[in-house]
Amino acid sequence: MKAHDGMYIRGQWRPAAGTDTIAVVNPTDEQVIATVPAGTAEDVDAAVRAARAALPAWAATPPAERAAAIAALAAAMTARRDEIAETVTAELGSTATFARRVQVGLPIRVMESYAELAATHAFETTVGNSTVYEEPVGVVGAITPWNYPLHQIVAKVAPALAAGCAIVVKPAEDTPLTAQLFADLVHEAGLPAGVFNLVTGLGPVAGQALAEHPDVDLVSFTGSTAVGRRIGAAAGAAVKRVALELGGKSANVVLPSADLAKAVTVGVANVMSNSGQTCSAWTRILVHTDRYDEAVELARAAAATHVPGDPNDSGSRLGPLVNAAQQARVRGYIEAGIAAGARVVAGGPESPHDTGYFVAPTVFADVTPDMSIAQEEIFGPVVSLLRYEDEDDALRIANGTVYGLAGAVWAGDDAEAAAFARRMDTGQVHINGGRFNPLAPFGGYKQSGVGREFGVHGLAEYLQTKSLQF
Ligand code: NAD
Repeated sequence: MKAHDGMYIRGQWRPAAGTDTIAVVNPTDEQVIATVPAGTAEDVDAAVRAARAALPAWAATPPAERAAAIAALAAAMTARRDEIAETVTAELGSTATFARRVQVGLPIRVMESYAELAATHAFETTVGNSTVYEEPVGVVGAITPWNYPLHQIVAKVAPALAAGCAIVVKPAEDTPLTAQLFADLVHEAGLPAGVFNLVTGLGPVAGQALAEHPDVDLVSFTGSTAVGRRIGAAAGAAVKRVALELGGKSANVVLPSADLAKAVTVGVANVMSNSGQTCSAWTRILVHTDRYDEAVELARAAAATHVPGDPNDSGSRLGPLVNAAQQARVRGYIEAGIAAGARVVAGGPESPHDTGYFVAPTVFADVTPDMSIAQEEIFGPVVSLLRYEDEDDALRIANGTVYGLAGAVWAGDDAEAAAFARRMDTGQVHINGGRFNPLAPFGGYKQSGVGREFGVHGLAEYLQTKSLQF
């Protein structure tokens, strides 16, 4: 596949400082499809300096002009939609349909939403005898994961650009090709040189150099809780802004009045999409004990429709996991679930294909809240069914993990479901299957993170306020 052998810095592809490279592997056939440079602290420093130099002019650009630039970028993404989707499928393994509709469709909507917000947001307001200015935070260091290669970048770049910040992105090592393609689109869209910069590289090298760079004003990180904790600690020591989007173990609560078949079928599909590699996936289905056996049968039948196979085949509904390490990790969790006494009703630890990092769509019944498969983020196509006795019991189980990223509640009417959702310790809840809204804040309670993405709440992460008293 097409790959750049340099870094995108100050509006051009320039040679990397070092000679190390990263091999990009297609997880479906395990073949190396490209190599990209592994950036060093020197590359990161060059990118941060480029961003710093570009910042004053971009920050002073009227919001309407920034909005036009963001709209041009959204249009460039739309024009190359198929090519981006093919790249995501090649390096991540998302099915072609999911790649086009969600992996690319979602970030296009987010980018468009920030074109509109930049144009309409009140960056200057009055309160009493004061004028309040919302000014860009400055230079942003963005570190992103592989599970939604374009979306995770756009969720940071779009609000940063709208706010008037300049940004350096360090994408995940497994999915740098989508990131490079995005840099090409930034270039095509004609963003001023240095406003957006890309450094590919390893987390502990390029990622750490970016997170700890003294001239970065805000570190925005999405990834594992373990790395997020380190980045938060470093930001605390340097007294700089930090946003952390971390893991999840979200509950899908099916109240007794709900349409059980719909709740379970949609719930299983939610976990299986993107092969379970979604931080907000509803990985725990909570069902009243009276209808538990029925729910198990529904989940088993639903899982059987998520046929694993080559993501480019139209019959496949489940692609591979991103790499061999994730495959081994997920299979380890399945084995731990079996050892703890949970019952496998679909799938299991055996891979459904000899080649490719596949894991079978797996459903566990008889899961108790204390098991590791009910507490820890598996990040694979594995769903656990837990039983509850009454609503208070359901709430205790739903809230009984260290995470609080997302969730779902199903009931006979929206008001009943919403009343339960208000009691959940979590950042975003879908009511009776409510649709994704790119303007609604997304982010974690508890150890799922700090800060919010999307809409005006996401924009606020990239702004700092100044008030003048008259
Ligand atoms: P990860 O934390 O290993 O990697 C994420 C990014 O951090 C990558 O770009 C990586 O190179 C970089 N990184 C790694 N070590 C670093 C270090 N020492 N310093 C600076 N950067 C470093 O996570 P992952 O394995 O790529 O992704 C899976 C995890 O991410 C899951 O736990 C998942 O829930 C979480 N995630 C959360 C969200 C969210 O929005 N909350 C979204 C996607 C993924």
